[in-house]
Amino acid sequence: MYKVERKTIIESVKGMLLESVKTLDKEVLDAFENARENERNPLAKNILDKILENHEIANSKDIPLCQDTGIVVCFLEIGRELYFDYDLDEAINVGVSQAYIEGYLRKSIVRHPLNRINTMDNTPAVIHHEFIPGNKLIIHIAPKGGGSENMSTLKMLSPSEGREGLIQFVLDTITKGGGRPCPPLIVGVGIGGNFEKCAWLAKKAILRPLGDVTENPVDRELEIELMERINKLDVGPMGLGGDATCIGVKVNSFPCHIASLPVAVNLQCHSARKSEVTLIGKEINHTNN
Ligand code: SF4
Repeated sequence: MYKVERKTIIESVKGMLLESVKTLDKEVLDAFENARENERNPLAKNILDKILENHEIANSKDIPLCQDTGIVVCFLEIGRELYFDYDLDEAINVGVSQAYIEGYLRKSIVRHPLNRINTMDNTPAVIHHEFIPGNKLIIHIAPKGGGSENMSTLKMLSPSEGREGLIQFVLDTITKGGGRPCPPLIVGVGIGGNFEKCAWLAKKAILRPLGDVTENPVDRELEIELMERINKLDVGPMGLGGDATCIGVKVNSFPCHIASLPVAVNLQCHSARKSEVTLIGKEINHTNN
């Protein structure tokens, strides 16, 4: 049996959040640089300059990229050989709380959707769990902004609407969203499963690295076609027109019922903050006495 200490998890989550709110991955920055180079609309080019300049300022002054420091989404991959003598979700939430309080990050979570009373430490995080072989704990974490989340959609299509119906639904979602999800976007598309599985697939899709190529040829073709068609919509950076509406499209699929064609679109704004850590469990002697 193996164990990852509670304090290691708390420190890791706190550190990842404090870093990720002010820094974008290199591949995301490269994609923005590339979009700026290829942008034909002068206003859109100027906005892309501002997005890159904003990143430089956030880094050099140690401040968040955006005032909305998000709801914390966490995907856990939990090694089956790990043993926990504490509440793993509670440890994640302690890390979130410490990061948001000590880092003076905006607290955006209300205890009940209707009473709107702030929890004052940005907890609870939304935590998803999966089991994997071995003794590692992989934590993927993303502070997800409200603007892009609000423009995300899910629809139970009829199977007869097929591939083109699905593409149209994705394009309509992005057109209707306009500037509100703060494009250029990373577009996560979930196809199949059922109602909740489909949303989960879309959320997980936006956490895939931009350079990640899916092994599923049907999904890959869809990613390529969607990327091309989304960038022809002329939504552009911040919805003011231009070539760069999205810098990446990621599709995740799952088997589904013969009567269903679920599709979910989760939008990631240009503050595409995320982080990942792999913690290796230390061997422990476990005796049954
Ligand atoms: S959608 Fe993203 S960039 Fe826009 S305000 Fe929210 S977190 Fe900031």
